Amino acid sequence: MGAEVNPCIESGCRGGCCRNIFMVDRRTKVEASFPGAIEVKPEEMPGLGDMAKGVYYIDHPTKNIPDGVYALIQGRCPNLGPLGSCAIYESNMRPHSCENFQRGSVDCNDIRYVLKLHPARTI
Ligand code: SF4
Ligand code: SF4
Repeated sequence: MGAEVNPCIESGCRGGCCRNIFMVDRRTKVEASFPGAIEVKPEEMPGLGDMAKGVYYIDHPTKNIPDGVYALIQGRCPNLGPLGSCAIYESNMRPHSCENFQRGSVDCNDIRYVLKLHPARTI
């Protein structure tokens, strides 16, 4: 979702996948990507729609990511611009989940279906 040519925006989608999502990533990555993120205790982790909009995370070490956290973006991602661009797209701060999410994937087209957009092809 870059600033110059953004195929998502050009195809009518303004960050459909950039809201109400969970991700697992390195603590340093999540804290750099979402400076306003709130660390909570596992028992305080909200479900989707349970708390005010924002980013919440809990400690979640895994074999592959020993310093992992599990993060919830509740509502719009704070990095999502009004026109659908990602404010940290050009930086190396973007979470791996965002880098790996592919336009035209099944998950992308599920979202596009809900948004009443035609299916996108992979690029
Ligand atoms: S990847 Fe898919 S759902 Fe996400 S912004 Fe692009 S077109 Fe929309
Ligand atoms: S960081 Fe950027 S790509 Fe990732 S969810 Fe937020 S706006 Fe979308």
